[in-house]
Amino acid sequence: MPAVVEVRNLHKSYGSTVAVDDISFAVEQGEIFGIIGPNGAGKTTTVECVEGLRTADRGVIRVLGLDPGRDRAELTQRLGVQLQDGRLPDRLQVGEALRLYSSFYRKPADRHVLMEVLGLADVRRAPCAKLSGGQKQRLSIALALIGSPEVAVLDELTTGLDPQARRDTWGLIQDVRSRGVTIVLVTHFMEEAERLCDRVAVIDRGRVVAEGSPQALTEGFNGGLHIRFRSSVPFDDGLLTGLPDVTGLTRQGDLVVVSGTGNALHAITSALARNDIVAEHLRVEQPSLEDAFVALTGTRAATGPGGSAAGAARRRSPSPH
Ligand code: ATP
Repeated sequence: MPAVVEVRNLHKSYGSTVAVDDISFAVEQGEIFGIIGPNGAGKTTTVECVEGLRTADRGVIRVLGLDPGRDRAELTQRLGVQLQDGRLPDRLQVGEALRLYSSFYRKPADRHVLMEVLGLADVRRAPCAKLSGGQKQRLSIALALIGSPEVAVLDELTTGLDPQARRDTWGLIQDVRSRGVTIVLVTHFMEEAERLCDRVAVIDRGRVVAEGSPQALTEGFNGGLHIRFRSSVPFDDGLLTGLPDVTGLTRQGDLVVVSGTGNALHAITSALARNDIVAEHLRVEQPSLEDAFVALTGTRAATGPGGSAAGAARRRSPSPH
């Protein structure tokens, strides 16, 4: 089956600033595909080209087989977009905004259901200017979904939401996907990417520097799992190093550190139990997507509600583009 979103060798400059150098990826039907990367990496520019809001300098983009530049009118009916800086008239009420947007689509979703699900029903008569940051964010998600899109592009899905609203929104996105909608998610939150995305592309300086499932990216980083324990009795390294999924063993005094991937933990604890060895003070350290992100991009990611786009601070100097 052809990819729902296909981006090949995308390049986009703003004057002398190369925002997107050479980006390629493909998103399959029904996937939640994450785009993560430090500030200024080119994520928004990439998705704006996918949405047809910007024209690429070079490269090929197809969304549902359509060219976002040439087939914009048709694509608008089938693609939902959450804009990073969506601005609505101050006096427009929440309910009016949704009614107005639903009139643009051939098959709009039920706006009353959307307002309920997104916790907007109580503020349906509130003017946009009076909404809190979180309510504005929820309205922008509702507007992205009001056209019953086949593909939704969500940029900074849960920025500004409190922890409960963030979890509710994740649940909503999983529901939307379970109805067959393909989702492209730009996020700074590694926990969000880990929980929601089937695959992510890590973008840095306008290029994809890694791509895969969050699990594959983290397992591939720093040797995967590290299992630390003190052994109740001495044992030969070969007992564990010969096990499937075990990639290494080191000793620090009486502390044993075993590295592995996949099912290493199960294999190790079973082998120890078979040999009547008790693993005392056992600790399992699993690298997170954030660890992989830091290693790949040299930046700290925003990890939770306290984090923000501004919190993703670059550790190395900007590229000379
Ligand atoms: P963020 O995480 O901060 O939103 P991003 O990964 O989405 O960043 P872009 O917004 O695509 O990155 O920006 C990529 C680069 O292009 C940055 O250097 C940015 O300053 C520059 N840029 C983006 N939009 C414009 C514009 N309209 N005019 C000039 N430069 C721009």
